[in-house]
Amino acid sequence: MSVMRMLGRAPASSILQCRTQIFSSLNQRPYVLFPSHHSSQIPSPPAAKPAADPLQHDYPVDRRIGGFTVLRSQSIPELALTAVHLEHSATGAQHLHLARADRNNVFAVAFRTPPRDSTGVAHILEHTVLCGSRRFPVRDPFFNMLNRSLSTFMNALTSSDWTMYPFSTLNRKDFQNLLSVYMDAAFFPNLRNVDFRQEGIRLEPADLTDPASALAFKGVVFNEMKGVFSNAENVYARRIHNYLLPSGTYGVESGGDPLDIPSLTWEQLRSFHKAYYHPSNARFYSYGDMPLEGHLDFLETTVLKHFHKEPIDSQVKPEPRWTQPREFTIAGPVNPLAPADKQVTVSVSYLWPEVLNALDNFCMGVVAKLLVSGPKAPFYAALLQSGLGSDYSPGTGLDNSIREGVFSVGLKNVAEQDTQQIVSTIRATIDHVVKTGFDAERVEAIIHEVELYLRHQTTSFGLHTLFGLMSSWNHDADPIQHLQVNQIVDQFRQAMSNDPEFLQKKVKEYLLDNAHNVTLVMKPDTAYEEQLKEKESQLLAEKTAGIDAATRQRLLEEARELEEEQNKKPDVSVLPTLKISDIESSLPRVNIKEINYENTPIMCVSAPTNGVTYFRSLISTEALHEELRPYVPLFCQIATKMGAGEMDYRQLSQAIELKTGGLAVSEHASHLFSSTDKYEQGVLLGSFCLDRNIGAMFGLWKDIFNRIRLQDLQQFAVLLKQMSADMIASLADSGHSYAMSYSASQLRPAARLREEWSGLQQINFLRPLAEAGDLRPTLDKMRLIAKHLLTNGRMRCSLNTTPATMKGALDELGEFLSAVEDNYELQHVVSDPGFQKRSGQRTHLTFPFAVHYASRCFPVPAFVHADYAALRVLGRLLSAKFLHKEIREKGGAYGGGARLAQDGLFNFYSYRDPKSLETFEAFERSVEWAMNGSFGTQDVDEAKLSVFQEVDKPVSPGDEGRRQFIYAVDDDLYQRHREQLLAVTKEQLVEVTGKYLADGEKAVSTLLGAADAEAAGRGWTVVAGGEEGAEKM
Ligand SMILES: [Zn+2]
Repeated sequence: MSVMRMLGRAPASSILQCRTQIFSSLNQRPYVLFPSHHSSQIPSPPAAKPAADPLQHDYPVDRRIGGFTVLRSQSIPELALTAVHLEHSATGAQHLHLARADRNNVFAVAFRTPPRDSTGVAHILEHTVLCGSRRFPVRDPFFNMLNRSLSTFMNALTSSDWTMYPFSTLNRKDFQNLLSVYMDAAFFPNLRNVDFRQEGIRLEPADLTDPASALAFKGVVFNEMKGVFSNAENVYARRIHNYLLPSGTYGVESGGDPLDIPSLTWEQLRSFHKAYYHPSNARFYSYGDMPLEGHLDFLETTVLKHFHKEPIDSQVKPEPRWTQPREFTIAGPVNPLAPADKQVTVSVSYLWPEVLNALDNFCMGVVAKLLVSGPKAPFYAALLQSGLGSDYSPGTGLDNSIREGVFSVGLKNVAEQDTQQIVSTIRATIDHVVKTGFDAERVEAIIHEVELYLRHQTTSFGLHTLFGLMSSWNHDADPIQHLQVNQIVDQFRQAMSNDPEFLQKKVKEYLLDNAHNVTLVMKPDTAYEEQLKEKESQLLAEKTAGIDAATRQRLLEEARELEEEQNKKPDVSVLPTLKISDIESSLPRVNIKEINYENTPIMCVSAPTNGVTYFRSLISTEALHEELRPYVPLFCQIATKMGAGEMDYRQLSQAIELKTGGLAVSEHASHLFSSTDKYEQGVLLGSFCLDRNIGAMFGLWKDIFNRIRLQDLQQFAVLLKQMSADMIASLADSGHSYAMSYSASQLRPAARLREEWSGLQQINFLRPLAEAGDLRPTLDKMRLIAKHLLTNGRMRCSLNTTPATMKGALDELGEFLSAVEDNYELQHVVSDPGFQKRSGQRTHLTFPFAVHYASRCFPVPAFVHADYAALRVLGRLLSAKFLHKEIREKGGAYGGGARLAQDGLFNFYSYRDPKSLETFEAFERSVEWAMNGSFGTQDVDEAKLSVFQEVDKPVSPGDEGRRQFIYAVDDDLYQRHREQLLAVTKEQLVEVTGKYLADGEKAVSTLLGAADAEAAGRGWTVVAGGEEGAEKM
């Protein structure tokens, strides 16, 4: 975790990661190549031990290693690593190696790729590069490698000014396999015309079975970008860059504007590759415990020896500074779920200094955080509490992902007549801060945060460090300087002590005296989607106007050629692969001891947590009154943000930041591993802190439990509106999750509760609450829930820390438990005998989106059942070997597949799908395909490997034992599951498909998105999405 990344929003909204982590909580929105099929997070390595023997002396400056020369090397003890920066003499390629005792090795190559237009050339190239190369002439090596690897991360990302191909894995053979495929793809891709047409853009008859049908634009990136631009938040955040930095590459849309993409030609794509994908414009990165020399040797012999140094014009110039602020008003899509008269977004964005210097970058991060983050921030009071909007505008805070920093602040969901007042408030707040400065304690809280994050072990350190470094290194900053966290913090402290007004002066320089700023107003336009469609039709008319019969025939032939390509069974034997025998036979066991403190069960997990202690607790909500249940998520949202004890909400927030990494509360509903009707419901608490602050952390929880303050209506209004607005905004990007939740809710009681708590039903429950004039009745509900839940009687807990700290941590936990009330008996596991499945249900939830999200869900057995393992493998098999082709390649959706979800549910889904009901036919065909056994043992092995990417993904010390704590799956059960997975046969896969997925009447289907006029006639129940579920509450 670099400081830069911690304080900025990097990588920011302008980055396209081309495997969208659609099930991800990864806090970034780059364009990814495709939706990842599993798991919610970037996986993570085990704890790194401080390097016993620093390598710095092994890599003196000017030492030559093969064709490389060391530019600089530096031991960085606070990150437990040694950094070596090298240059390849013959080509000028740079290499940064971070040696660290971490088995989760990372490798990446990045190119500086500033586009000059909005045709999406960089983005489409990033997709097409991964469609076959010289040594690996298969159509889709990247997607195929996903199933032949145990990688912990594989992706490709397009930012505004760089393109990156990173991967990580714990397995050394896998590392070499992926390295060969990645390097050959990046430097020697085939870039065939047919792949360009599939991934980028093509013109072909809308219906291939009817050659006379009208011509239409198709292509994966074309659809991907239509999806991006149908979301108001995306449109807004991207326009900020375009208007604030109009003169160069940031003035255009690097992902591609759907109206410009059709102008891109295959020749332009190829010349973009030739111009920028060259070692003289490349930055290589390696991280982990594998030796540097091996990487350098590989690069030399497979890539670099084929090139010579070339002058490459890829520099991004600083934006010429303005002397006058500018103002723009744009139209955006209407949000169907927000009040019609409060849908304007307004913000002021400032161009800040370059991100190249580490200290400047740090200062910008600190100032931005002080200005907008947390309830003590001046803009929190001035904007959020004004009640004029629901939340900060998209892009608020510092974006340091491009050459110069961009700071934005504003509000969304405001009334048009209030925009001027908001802009004046922003300017007045800046004046005020320049005069009064910041509270010293808040600065300390940020420095504490840096210290905590240096110690907090994540499993994706190598990747996150790379993402944090990229924006400055891409513009030739010294990457090592940005890693020297202690030095940066020392310099910062020095600057503060030299000048007590240091930060105020920064605010004056960055904001008050800075004329380079843009006021951007976005107004909803009911015709927005229509107009885009209209423009697309016009463009289509222009592009097809002069088409004669011969050209039309050629387009048809090309379309058939592509279809044929897509239907070919690829010969992937040329690609390297891991074997099932490369999977570890067992995993390291977690060191768990279960004890009881009075009546409270506590799970003690001893792990190398590096001076940090992790606390988790589950409080049952089973006995909560039915009427209060839908309010539980709101309670979770506010529980630690309203004040407690002697502290108002500002003081509480400050205390939390000074002593902990945050106090989190979230709702939880899940079936037990052993059953599909018994389940657990409750509220999960989680927090972590430096070991020296354990007492203070439990002190804070104690204050919240015993003396939560639920009075401040203004603060409550801010939190409620934010929550409602966030959920509404998530709908357009996560429609598939909402569709799956809706389907699942008809089949399992825990899923029913999750729909009530986090599905469309919750959105429709919160909206009227957030818009209500009088919030007192809702706040009363919060008091009732607090009285009921904030006691120790329904609690179970876990602690993760080092063996040396465990006893002290337990004492503090015990003191906390003794100090809070105990009113109730513990009853965790419940069932819901009244629950009725609604099999066969088909619902079309309509929203004015440009695309669809489909879900079809079957009930299947629970984790302990013998068929569970086969179903899990089946999900991967169907996704990789059938649905990917049908839904993404042919259908043009951004993603789609099948997965076994928790609670014994088997889900088919599609994501940003231009097709609607046809996708359900593809789901059905996939079942037939599997029942007919149309696959081989290699396919089964590949499906298993990709399941094991998830099953064996590394766990950070703070998360060890979590699976057992939350789902009661201990190491023995898990090992049994692993063995069952390894033993799955083709025959079993055929059998479980027939047994569980053949009878369509058992399934529940949901189609979310643009209204399909045929749905009702074909037996679907059509419901306006904004109304569904509201009446049930
Ligand atoms: Zn993409």
